Amino acid sequence: MNSLNELIPYLKKGVIPISETIHVYEKSLFKYEDSYIVMIKDKNKKYLICTGQSNLLHDLEGKNIDNVSKLCDLTHENRLILNNYFPFTVPRAFGRNEITVGLGDRIGMATPGHIKSIQESNAKPIFAQQSIRELNLTNRTMEDVIDCAAFSVFQEGYILGYGADGDHLKDELDISREINLGISMLTLDCSDYIKNNLDLENEYSINLLYDELDEKFKRHYEATYLNQVFQLKNTILTYTEKDLKKAAIIYSAAIQYMIYIYQNYIQPLDRSIDFEISIDETQTVTTPHDHFFVANELNTHNIMITSMAPRFCGEFQKGIDYIGDIDLFNKELHIHSQIADYFKYKLSIHSGSDKFSIYNSISQITNQRFHLKTAGTNWLEALRLIAKVKPDLYEEIFNYSYNHFNETQKFYHITPNLNNITPLQNIEYKDYYTHLNNDNVRQLLHVSFGILLTAKDNKGNFLFKNRLQTIWNEHEEDYHEIIRKHINKHLKLLNLIKPSA
Ligand SMILES: [Zn+2]
Repeated sequence: MNSLNELIPYLKKGVIPISETIHVYEKSLFKYEDSYIVMIKDKNKKYLICTGQSNLLHDLEGKNIDNVSKLCDLTHENRLILNNYFPFTVPRAFGRNEITVGLGDRIGMATPGHIKSIQESNAKPIFAQQSIRELNLTNRTMEDVIDCAAFSVFQEGYILGYGADGDHLKDELDISREINLGISMLTLDCSDYIKNNLDLENEYSINLLYDELDEKFKRHYEATYLNQVFQLKNTILTYTEKDLKKAAIIYSAAIQYMIYIYQNYIQPLDRSIDFEISIDETQTVTTPHDHFFVANELNTHNIMITSMAPRFCGEFQKGIDYIGDIDLFNKELHIHSQIADYFKYKLSIHSGSDKFSIYNSISQITNQRFHLKTAGTNWLEALRLIAKVKPDLYEEIFNYSYNHFNETQKFYHITPNLNNITPLQNIEYKDYYTHLNNDNVRQLLHVSFGILLTAKDNKGNFLFKNRLQTIWNEHEEDYHEIIRKHINKHLKLLNLIKPSA
């Protein structure tokens, strides 16, 4: 790396280095005591270079360029060093009053684009956010996900703070592991404890199931909810015996689990963490009675949650707009957000990308008190870039996804009709990127990320991963601009864009 030597004299003076061959990320120039540090990209690989005599230089692992400067790889160890010296690179909690948007980065390269977008808004970002399912499907670890987010905020000089969400965690082991890794938000998925598929229509079976609950719980529930009036802002909530019994049957065990996790893992921490309760991954729509019941039980036990994700009516399928009756959704959202306000937490909306027809309602009805999760839409935009700059590779990817749809669709609830996809032979190369405007294409490709990023040929080489990463890397700025535009479309409809932007 010859031209590297040219950069050092600039950096030693705290000036953004100039080079013909090496890309310097201007916004990543930071100072610590007498040290300057900046991120660069040489031959598609990123490094940090650091000068000076401070402990920062001493602590970073890397190759000495001379005795007061080092070239450092973007390793997990070096991310932890950055965390020690630059607090904005550490994931942080945002509490109940900030509007937050989850912007999971499926490929580990989308975050700078997300930063460009979120900077134009009033919202706070959760850049590191992958569920166990997504980690498994992509062969990534939560360490890697947080590393990518931390290096991205450093690269872009984004000092306003970001969160890391242990998304949809169910098992105690995963929870304790990810808390130790420094997540700032825990989304507890209680679906294993939520009773589904029960016959709750006839009174006989309701009574039978309710009778199985612990006496002490039943006494407490009946005293708390029967013959009581709960006054929400514009709604009065009362429980019939049937409302109460149904809520208790479905959620009692889940509530015990929420309390257990909070008391054993969150309360003992000496830092704050955003605690989200997810009851959305069930087949039954969360009724206002159910939502209030869960929230009130948590409140009674002094469990501080930051947000709750009920299961709304209609369908929130991946990568496409809301499917369902929008008036009914608005009506339900109105009551759910009154419940959230009553307990002072935020309503959380999952699978929240591309739901353009309901963003305005979400913004208005919740009075901008919400958390919106998006995770995979940046993956689709990454493929849009491929369709734009390398249409033949896009064709390969599309065909591979098409032929493996039976395997990929079982991980997600989606309902595309593959017969409604225009064959690529009928589209010109220059128009390939519009192929992704078709909802059926979006869903097909949305669920294929795991198989595409891990598929190998019979020699054990990646079929697509390396080629894709090379292109994403070479066209980094184009990719980030595509993402910025796409996410801004969301933020605009949510009324989150700052007037000056
Ligand atoms: Zn969810």
